[in-house]
Amino acid sequence: MVAGGRDSNVGVGGLILGGGCSWFASKMGFVADSVLNVELVTADGSIINVNANEHSDLFVGLKGGGNNFGIATRFDLKAFEFEKMWGGLKTYSNETTDAQIQAFIANIDTHASLINYYMYDQRSGTHTVTNVMHYNFPVANAPIYDEINAIPGVLADTTRTVKLSKLTEELSSETQRSRNFFVTLTFANDAAMYRKAIDISNSQLKPFLNIDGLVWSVLVQPIPATVREASQRSGPNLLGLDRAHGNLAMYLLYAAWSDPADDERMIAAGYSAIDEIKSESVRTGKDSPFIYMDYAGEHQDVLRGYGEASVQKMKELSAKYDPSGVFQTLVSGGWKIGSTTASRGSFVRTDQLLLQWLHGWSWP
Ligand SMILES: Cc1cc2nc3c(=O)[nH]c(=O)nc-3n(C[C@H](O)[C@H](O)[C@H](O)COP(=O)(O)OP(=O)(O)OC[C@H]3O[C@@H](n4cnc5c(N)ncnc54)[C@H](O)[C@@H]3O)c2cc1C
Repeated sequence: MVAGGRDSNVGVGGLILGGGCSWFASKMGFVADSVLNVELVTADGSIINVNANEHSDLFVGLKGGGNNFGIATRFDLKAFEFEKMWGGLKTYSNETTDAQIQAFIANIDTHASLINYYMYDQRSGTHTVTNVMHYNFPVANAPIYDEINAIPGVLADTTRTVKLSKLTEELSSETQRSRNFFVTLTFANDAAMYRKAIDISNSQLKPFLNIDGLVWSVLVQPIPATVREASQRSGPNLLGLDRAHGNLAMYLLYAAWSDPADDERMIAAGYSAIDEIKSESVRTGKDSPFIYMDYAGEHQDVLRGYGEASVQKMKELSAKYDPSGVFQTLVSGGWKIGSTTASRGSFVRTDQLLLQWLHGWSWP
């Protein structure tokens, strides 16, 4: 087994070069941290191996550097023995939000990681919260989940002992056409901050409850200190999370709707939610500069969130490996060192995957 995306529609290149959150994050760090070698086509057409011994400076740059330095044509990842896991989705009414937050805050384990997923679906008129639960051994309801399991009112439950591939398939499904976006930010793993983020998301949603086909979803997942410690054991990356203290929570807002005429106001609402949550986290001293590339909206300044040292390193790597700026100017999409917000390209592909993800999770 190797670490990878948790949805079977997610690719490899973008996932790894942006970091990569897997079922194994608390033990292995980001997927990029488990890379042993990257075969890379550089700006002058050379094919090089990038690893801890060859081009080791660039090896760091590929762990979070996106498409700034080359085209990866092969990844070798740390492999490990793995048989079956326990996991699935448990869905509740969003009236359980406070209990979900308390359980999420307490849920730190090397083999498990709880994702809370809030969703408003205009077509069904439902507001639900779902826990994406997993334990990396075939052990049902490990004690780490006691607090979650004590929350009454489960509407649907798919948890079982399962092959990883089946759980990954459960989080994906057929494509449905729609409009959509991702935006993200990170804050301290703190109940009051988390509750405020949900309240802000809900208040931004309020004017749009009747938008045709609207799915408005917030996904909160932990970045515990154990993830960062695991990253550090594998050598440096660009993400800048070594500056953080304590456990963090990563917030992802994604929305989908049907009519292109709604694009502008939906996207504006998403960025407003992010701005408001950021202000609140700064005001209360709960903010983190980290913006996860693989969840970021195109106007978010991902690379600046890594910190000045990482940006400087990226500039040096670009000058060394791509002196004519091929990947800065000729390759569209992604977050470029020159202008740290994204160019358009990656957005479209991610949107297609998002649709598959959203519509693969069905609600009672
Ligand atoms: C439904 C869904 C589920 C998701 N689940 C997870 C998850 O579990 N964990 C997680 O961490 N993220 C997840 N994500 C986010 C996901 O990691 C990003 O969307 C990521 O960009 C996907 O990688 P890709 O190769 O499929 O992307 P693409 O859209 O193909 O590429 C994204 C960017 O990477 C660059 N790129 C891609 N391949 C290469 C390459 N070989 N060489 C150089 N540059 C390359 C592209 O130029 C582009 O800028 C999910 C996203 C969706 C939509």
